[in-house]
Order: sequence, then C-alpha cells, then structure tokens
Amino acid sequence: MEKKNLDWENMGFDYMQTDKRYVSNYKDGKWDDGALIDDANIVMNECAGVLQYAQTVFEGLKAYTTESGKIVTFRPDLNASRMVDSARRLEMPVFPEERFVDAVAEVVKANAAYVPPYGSGATLYIRPYMFGINPVIGVKPADEYQFRIFTTPVGPYFKGGAKPITICVSDFDRAAPHGTGHIKAGLNYAMSLHAIVTAHANGFDENMYLDSATRTKVEETGGANFIFVTKDNKVVTPHSSTILPSITRRSIMYVAEHYLGLKVEERDVYFDEVKDFAECGLCGTAAVISPVGKVVNHGEEICFPSGMEKMGPITQKLYDTLTGIQMGHIEAPEGWIKVIE
Ligand SMILES: *Cc1c(COP(=O)(O)O)cnc(C)c1O
Repeated sequence: MEKKNLDWENMGFDYMQTDKRYVSNYKDGKWDDGALIDDANIVMNECAGVLQYAQTVFEGLKAYTTESGKIVTFRPDLNASRMVDSARRLEMPVFPEERFVDAVAEVVKANAAYVPPYGSGATLYIRPYMFGINPVIGVKPADEYQFRIFTTPVGPYFKGGAKPITICVSDFDRAAPHGTGHIKAGLNYAMSLHAIVTAHANGFDENMYLDSATRTKVEETGGANFIFVTKDNKVVTPHSSTILPSITRRSIMYVAEHYLGLKVEERDVYFDEVKDFAECGLCGTAAVISPVGKVVNHGEEICFPSGMEKMGPITQKLYDTLTGIQMGHIEAPEGWIKVIE
C-alpha cells in the first residue's frame, strides 16, 4: 500500500478529509449492515434531532504504525463499550460493540494510506459518532439514527517536546451531579467552549473543573483526566461519578501499578491537597499525558516541583511506558493492541 505524500512531521491537529468513512443507519428498530462510503457530507432534515436537541455522542481513538510496521489501534473495545454507556444515557440505540470494533478496523484499513509512518509522531485519529437524524420538534428521542466513523491524520501533539502547561481553576462548572459528565457527548463540549475561550483570554492553557456540588474536589479538564504524583511516588487520580472515564487514564493507572510497581489510588482529591503533590498531568488520547507545571486559583499560584521545563520524572516514566506499549517496544497486556493489518 502506497502512503499519501503528506508532510507527516508538520501536521497540526486539524481535519483533513480521507478517502473512506463508515456509515450505518438505524431505522424501524434496527441497524442496517453498514458500508464504507466516499461522501464526507451528510444531508439531513432541518429538524433533525441532533440539530435541535443535541442528541449525539462520540468517541475518539488513534491508529498508528508500530516499529515493526503494523497498523494498530489501542483498546478499541473500551471505546465501543463507553459509546454504549453514552448512547444509553441519551436514549439512543446501542451500536453493537463487536460491530464497532470491526467497523473501526474496516475504516482504518480503507484509509491505510493516511496512517502516518512509524517515528513521525503523527497518528490517524479515528472519530466514531452517532446522532439522531429524523425530524424531532417535540422534545423526545429521535427514531432514526446514523452511526459514522471518519478518520483524519493528525500531527504529534507536542512539537519539540512536551512543555508543562499552566491551568486555571474554572469559575464555570463542567458537570452536574447525576448529569452527563461521565458520558462522551457533544453537549458537554458545547457548554465548555465559553469556559475555555475565557481561560485562553486570561492566558491559561486549560481549565481545572471542580465538583459542582461543593467546589472542593478536583474533577477534570474539558477533555482530559488528571493524574497526580505524591512526594512519595504514589499515583493518584480523582474518583468521581461526574468525570469521563478516560481510557488513557485507566491504562496509565494499570501501567503505574503493574509495570512500574507504584502505589496507585483512585479517590476523592481535594483542591486543598493539590499544593502538596509533586507532579501533575492531563491524560487523554490526543496527548497521552500532558504535564501541568502550574495551577492558578484566582491569582494564587501552585507551582509543582517538576517545574515548567519538562515532565516530572514519574510522569515521564508513565508516558514512556505507555507509549512504548502502544508503539510495540514494550510488551502489552493481553488484548490492548489490536492489529489492523
Ligand atoms: C475523551 C475525554 C477524555 C479522555 O479520554 P480518553 O479515552 O483517554 O481519550 C477525558 N475527559 C473528557 C471530558 C473526554 O471527553
């Protein structure tokens, strides 16, 4: 297979149209067989459920080339099951998990020419999503849905190394107790846009959201979970029913415990104890781990001992081990790496 002639090293995180996308339609209570198609545009009724009442959920994962030249994806079964949870919460039909995993493989294979080569740092970003497509004007779930997957090559998240970022404690809330914070729904992002634009305008890279009930506990950012490292090298992540269960974060906690022999804790993390941590990072598919150097709470600065120049030592080990597993340098736990071809 001939690769496209793209500038892999200098790509950004932008949409680029690739050759094929996967589509399956849900109608009369069932999903059709699904197919790969060429048309990147969607035609729908002006009153489609997704346009009026935001009935849509999504996933995000990556395909990349390992050192041995195989195209692989990382734990797509977890994206499949998380999308089931998301769909159920928004009263959408479930797209069967095995079909999800097969469709991801099919669409990656069809766009193999766009999977960046090993060592470029770039990856093929995969975006599965589902939305209500028939007209809905009274508030109720749609009857017809479309499930799609497109792919787009994206550049390395950090060009020239991962520099620690500065984040601020947001005055806005991300997720309500018993709300939708734990599912991957576009609606959680729509309402975060004002908060992130505000944070950027104030000179910060990201928001730290606190629990909206008490505003005393750390939750997550708009699109990444937190990990903290204590001064005695314990890896701590917030436990909350209103954060999105990041697959990267769950993998990092496993790697910390089983590969690096570190103690791990998933528990309430009070904002008051953030000043006592040695390291802080944000985890998600896009960056794997993005180090945080500083947290600012209304002018009051918390500077982690790891500083603003590089990742903390434990964060670096976690990053190297997880990316080593993904790239095939380090043996992966059973079932983590799915070879596409
Ligand atoms: C997608 C997402 C994450 C990261 O999840 P991964 O599975 O690691 O990519 C974290 N927080 C939110 C709110 C998200 O939407």
